[in-house]
Amino acid sequence: MCHEKNNLETLDPQQWESLCERCARCCYEKIDFNGRIFYTRKPCDQLDLQTGLCRVYDQRDQARSDCQRLTPEVVAAGILPADCPYARRIENYQGPVMGEKE
Ligand code: SF4
Ligand code: SF4
Repeated sequence: MCHEKNNLETLDPQQWESLCERCARCCYEKIDFNGRIFYTRKPCDQLDLQTGLCRVYDQRDQARSDCQRLTPEVVAAGILPADCPYARRIENYQGPVMGEKE
């Protein structure tokens, strides 16, 4: 049994940020098809493909109104890859389908 499970609500902002491995996979556009999330191969236009980092991270809400800031509820909704460190803390997490549609 993993003692890390289900404790996203208890993390302080620094602990929360430090969980991210900066893989950038969640910064690709997604499609909700009948309640199932599909990742596309189209990166967000604010993603620096060389560094894998967001160019506007601190102002991402203003720069991209559709950039979804992560919260425990957003993570639980299933938008992150199943092996993302946030998703791994959700019991019975069902991840999206990755890279299936352009
Ligand atoms: S998929 Fe997870 S680890 Fe990767 S950038 Fe997104 S939040 Fe961070
Ligand atoms: S604006 Fe949001 S989705 Fe786009 S690169 Fe930045 S963090 Fe990722």
